[in-house]
Amino acid sequence: MQQKSVKKIVILGGGTAGWISASLLVKILGKVLDITLVESEDIGTIGVGEATIPPIQSLNAALGLQEEEFLRETMGTIKLGIQFEHWGDVGESYMHAFGTVGKDFPFCHFNHFWRRADQLGMSFNYWDFSLNYQASLQNKFSKLDRIEGVNLGGLTYAYHFDAGLYARFLRKYSESVGVKRIEGKVATVQQDPLTGDIQALLLQSGQRIEGDLFLDCSGLHSLLIDKTLNTGFEDWSHWLPADSAVAVPSAKTEPVVPYTRSIAHANGWQWRIPLQHRTGNGFVYSSKYCTDEEAKQLLLSNLDSQALAEPRLIKFRTGRRLQQWQRNVVSIGLASGFLEPLESTSIHLIQSAVLRLLKFFPHLGINDSDRAEYNRQSKIEFEQIRDFIILHYKLTRRQDSKFWRDCKQMAVPASLERKLQQFAQSGLVFREQDELFSEIAWQQVMLGQGLLPADHHPLVDALTEAQLQDMLQNLKVIFEKTTERLGSHQEFLARVAGTR
Ligand code: FAD
Repeated sequence: MQQKSVKKIVILGGGTAGWISASLLVKILGKVLDITLVESEDIGTIGVGEATIPPIQSLNAALGLQEEEFLRETMGTIKLGIQFEHWGDVGESYMHAFGTVGKDFPFCHFNHFWRRADQLGMSFNYWDFSLNYQASLQNKFSKLDRIEGVNLGGLTYAYHFDAGLYARFLRKYSESVGVKRIEGKVATVQQDPLTGDIQALLLQSGQRIEGDLFLDCSGLHSLLIDKTLNTGFEDWSHWLPADSAVAVPSAKTEPVVPYTRSIAHANGWQWRIPLQHRTGNGFVYSSKYCTDEEAKQLLLSNLDSQALAEPRLIKFRTGRRLQQWQRNVVSIGLASGFLEPLESTSIHLIQSAVLRLLKFFPHLGINDSDRAEYNRQSKIEFEQIRDFIILHYKLTRRQDSKFWRDCKQMAVPASLERKLQQFAQSGLVFREQDELFSEIAWQQVMLGQGLLPADHHPLVDALTEAQLQDMLQNLKVIFEKTTERLGSHQEFLARVAGTR
């Protein structure tokens, strides 16, 4: 047990992780903490990370950001889900739409009703019952919490935004409320010779920055948690073999769709993220199956508008730091681990790590049991998201390349194998404790990639076939009529963000 009170926080890194950390810490504990952020413009940031998931709304709310200003400043657009194209098999497509699907009953999710109808030959598509999906198809969006008159959820959404502009926006906010920013490159990290704790960062300029607690937000450099403290790394590349990406912005296309596209190719997958002023594109692949040059050519020949820059190559390793909080260093963002951006989870992991740190904030000194619990919770969170991402690869039925055949055949973690077997047999899947992805998210990916349960819940059999048909038809009409009444995404952006 160490007993040094924690007042002075030093954040190394001014990417999305650094500035989210700075802004949340100053917002919540700014009155009792002295916060300094060090970043180097020469080194720069990773410059990708433009798609988010709905919990970003609670981050923005916690920071007191106004949605209109946020969308204007970050060139943001609305995201209602992710469309997965050619994942189950070539030519197929489905969406992981945010929000609910159909109507859940106590003890029984809607997928059981849909599955029974499907077995009886009724021609309903599961996504007929997703308002988010229907709105996406028609490029529509209005703010709608609930569907009036019926007990059904409205639209659940996140954002796409320009990561650089977002970091700049948070920097402006953080500096205005007291965060000190220092420009410079860290040359040496000084450690206490007795405890091994970090004492100070020495910049190339000679400036020395002391701190009680250091946040390693140095991205893939992992300067503190890895290069200084040598915290071990748990490698997950046997499950998620992608180790590379090429990224390039391209010109804006019309209409600006309210969803991310994830397009599977023979050796990896491509993202397309629509912003107000341009489209973000990238191709994620494993260097075992595809060269960097092939990846670059594939990306360039699959853009739907003109490239605005040279493609940039990014290398990474999937996995996590064994201790995300080690000594007096908490790693946040890419420094803490990497999961490919298939479900847009990295920015969420940053937000979640800072909120966790706030819960455990060691104001009287770092305490071993709090640090161990922080690490335990972080591990579970990473593993749960890892399983959800592996699911997409494992459930492919593609046979057209060695890459997909290997994905299909790989042995998956026991925690995922259990979920797959249970869903295949009974249509059940359970969200575990604080797991990020809901049952409905899991159901969409499993059904969308062709894992159809053998059984359904007995509650469904309380309905006759005619009643089941009626119930589904009525629900479908409610979603159709509600979608008709929504405004267009383009109009929404024009109104709130001034886009033309
Ligand atoms: P960085 O942005 O790399 O920032 C590191 C900072 O540390 C920089 O300011 C740098 O200057 C500083 N630094 C490093 N070393 C030193 C030093 N010696 N001295 C001083 N300063 C130093 N996430 C999502 O949520 N959604 C997505 O759609 C998404 N897409 C992605 C696509 C790809 C291909 C990749 C690789 C990642 C993606 N991510 C996505 C993840 C996302 O980009 C990151 O989680 C996010 O940008 C946070 O990065 P970071 O702040 O940890 O690191």
